[in-house]
Amino acid sequence: MIKKLMPDRMFNSYRDITPEILSGLGIKALLLDIDNTLVTYDDPDPTDEVTAWLKQMNESGILTAFVSNNSDPSRVERFNKSLGYFAVSRAKKPLPNGFRRALEYMKVDACNAASVGDQIFTDVWAAKNVGAYAFLVPPIKDKTTLFFKAKRFLERPIIKKYKSKNQK
Ligand SMILES: [Mg+2]
Repeated sequence: MIKKLMPDRMFNSYRDITPEILSGLGIKALLLDIDNTLVTYDDPDPTDEVTAWLKQMNESGILTAFVSNNSDPSRVERFNKSLGYFAVSRAKKPLPNGFRRALEYMKVDACNAASVGDQIFTDVWAAKNVGAYAFLVPPIKDKTTLFFKAKRFLERPIIKKYKSKNQK
């Protein structure tokens, strides 16, 4: 079980993920979470930083798609408007379907793809369910609901384990 929840890599920000790191791992495509990974829930559009990072990826031959659990399709649609990527809303991560659809569209095998997300119980788990790399980033600005606090609390031991494993 814990194997299914263990991120392969943790980064301090999506910005720390570079084409060099990806090519070193044989990764050709990114399955991107939006909320709290690239922007906060309150940002309807990609920031200039996000857009620049995505363009840098695409120029290096890395394909990108959005796979969001957001229940509002218009949120994903608007965020993707200037970018025009393949995008899934209501993906129901950790269920694998959203990632599978995006991989199929990009024609990339799961073993050559990485998910980038801020949540272990959705993003990391979904990546493991399809056999993709799981990259975890800290949430940009967490919601303060009890549900979110509980999720973060449950993530703690896994993050601790990751850190102790990778500091050796
Ligand atoms: Mg998220």
